[in-house]
Amino acid sequence: MTEKCGVVGVSLSGRDAARPLYYALYALQHRGQESAGIITHDGFQQHSHVEMGLVGDAFDEGDLESLAGSAGIGHVRYPTAGSLDTSCAQPFSVSFKSGSLGLSHNGNLVNADELRDKLAGKGHAFTSDGDTEVIAHDLARNLLEEDLVRAVKRTMGRIHGSYSLTISHDDTILGVRDPQGNRPLCIGELEDGYVIASESAAIDTLDGELVRDVRPGELVVLHDDGTGFDSYQLFEREHTAHCFFEHVYFARPDSVIDGQLVYEARRELGRKLWDESGVETDVVMPVPDSGRAFASGYAEAAAETTADGEPRPERDDGVEFAEGMMKNRYVGRTFIMPTQDERERAVRLKLNPIKSTVAGKTVTLIDDSIVRGTTSTQLVELLRDCGAEEVHMRIGAPPIVAPCYMGIDMATRDELIAADKSVEEIRETIEADSLAYLSTDAVAEALASDRDDLCLGCVTGEYPYDVEGEVTDRDVDRPEIDSQPMRADD
Ligand code: SF4
Repeated sequence: MTEKCGVVGVSLSGRDAARPLYYALYALQHRGQESAGIITHDGFQQHSHVEMGLVGDAFDEGDLESLAGSAGIGHVRYPTAGSLDTSCAQPFSVSFKSGSLGLSHNGNLVNADELRDKLAGKGHAFTSDGDTEVIAHDLARNLLEEDLVRAVKRTMGRIHGSYSLTISHDDTILGVRDPQGNRPLCIGELEDGYVIASESAAIDTLDGELVRDVRPGELVVLHDDGTGFDSYQLFEREHTAHCFFEHVYFARPDSVIDGQLVYEARRELGRKLWDESGVETDVVMPVPDSGRAFASGYAEAAAETTADGEPRPERDDGVEFAEGMMKNRYVGRTFIMPTQDERERAVRLKLNPIKSTVAGKTVTLIDDSIVRGTTSTQLVELLRDCGAEEVHMRIGAPPIVAPCYMGIDMATRDELIAADKSVEEIRETIEADSLAYLSTDAVAEALASDRDDLCLGCVTGEYPYDVEGEVTDRDVDRPEIDSQPMRADD
């Protein structure tokens, strides 16, 4: 599973934005590794550098020097299909009669094709098949007729789906989050300005302070001189649709998303996992690195209560937590494995158990999710080869039964092991002694959220957005409210 994008925007007083944007993109690298880009504006003209590859490879000193101006936006991208070239790399830029526009997008529109056809019919020429260009053209068109806030509101009224955006309109930087707040976006204060970013870890990297999340349906406009920001609540919905997988898998554990530290959320999910399906084994160990925080919460809960939910007797040591599996950090995604047999054995290149930790023991292996089931099968086999007497798997999320249409590169329905198999059938496939997933109710409890305020599309098959051919779990009408400008400190 891969997150598609990370976005950032900064407005500073008196120093260039390029370097802070570059550092922030480094902090967001986990959200996209295919391309990286920065657009800045120096008050007179826009400067842009967009390149394929990792942040560290996409920019050199000369590139950063050329990105003049104290305001700008940045983007890291992971495209889902096709377009493995710079035509879909971001930030996307357009110049038009009343200025220049740059756009960084995290998410996925569900009506991009329809909107592209309409705009093409009005004479707009598109250079990519990406949905970000659709937003950019629509906004540029609206800006010819209306002020910034009204133009953004009109575009938000037309685009459907998931979007967290940072936008540069000349040297004014904006942040926008879709009315259901599917993807994260937050605001931070720096010593000499403000930053908007996908995750608060980017704000930490700049020595800034997290101010708050951008609210679903909110437009944030940073002051050009870096002294503050204005907020406009342009749309309001009864329910949000935060992607629960941000907390489970995608976001950095050191980020705070929608008011919750991701690391603590994962530990809480692990605690719930013990409460719901704990099994008494000699050792509990995480699949590194994804299962680590879950396993730590699981083991902590196991130290307090038995698997039957009774208080653990004082002389009972409970379940031992062990880092029993080591990860080879140098096996990257570009590693070439020409044959299917070699691909299937790839897990042995990536992960290696510490034999003495598992030999002769009953083991619980904790991970955050099972997508295709291939890795889980290999891990169970690996632990048995190393002498484990029993191997139990516990998963810190519900089974993934359907694809994501909101900006996550997950898998097709055919590839998802849980799409047509029961939990028992999956257990048989991966050859574990037992297998249990976390319930959706436990996810909502662990995230301190109402179930109706989460997107659970990939684990329920019911989506909070109107996806063609899929079931919608809520009213998709888009009630508008009048936009009332508010000061940031209102
Ligand atoms: S479908 Fe799943 S991965 Fe996609 S936004 Fe919803 S919860 Fe997140």
